Amino acid sequence: MICPNCESEYVDGIAECTDCGSELVSAEEFEGNLVHHSDWVIVYTCSESFEADMLKANLEGAGIEVTILKQKDSSYPAVGGLAVIKVLVQKKDAETASEIITDINKTE
Ligand SMILES: [Zn+2]
Repeated sequence: MICPNCESEYVDGIAECTDCGSELVSAEEFEGNLVHHSDWVIVYTCSESFEADMLKANLEGAGIEVTILKQKDSSYPAVGGLAVIKVLVQKKDAETASEIITDINKTE
């Protein structure tokens, strides 16, 4: 486990940084996150790359900066680690992004 704030490493099982009180993330999650946690929010999750790419194109078309985070979900070891794809936008764009995503899903 790693503190996203001060980058201290902790053994598994600890949920909070003893230095700053931040919620710890897994090493995998931390490495996948090149952006600062507190400025970005997850607006959509899916398991298909094309779906995330399609959303990214739509959101970027609306002038919203998008980060796509792909990781294996270790909670599904039976199926060999299901891929989880998270679509992140900056907090200031979260509301607009959610509206765009809702619209896209409506028209499907
Ligand atoms: Zn910390």
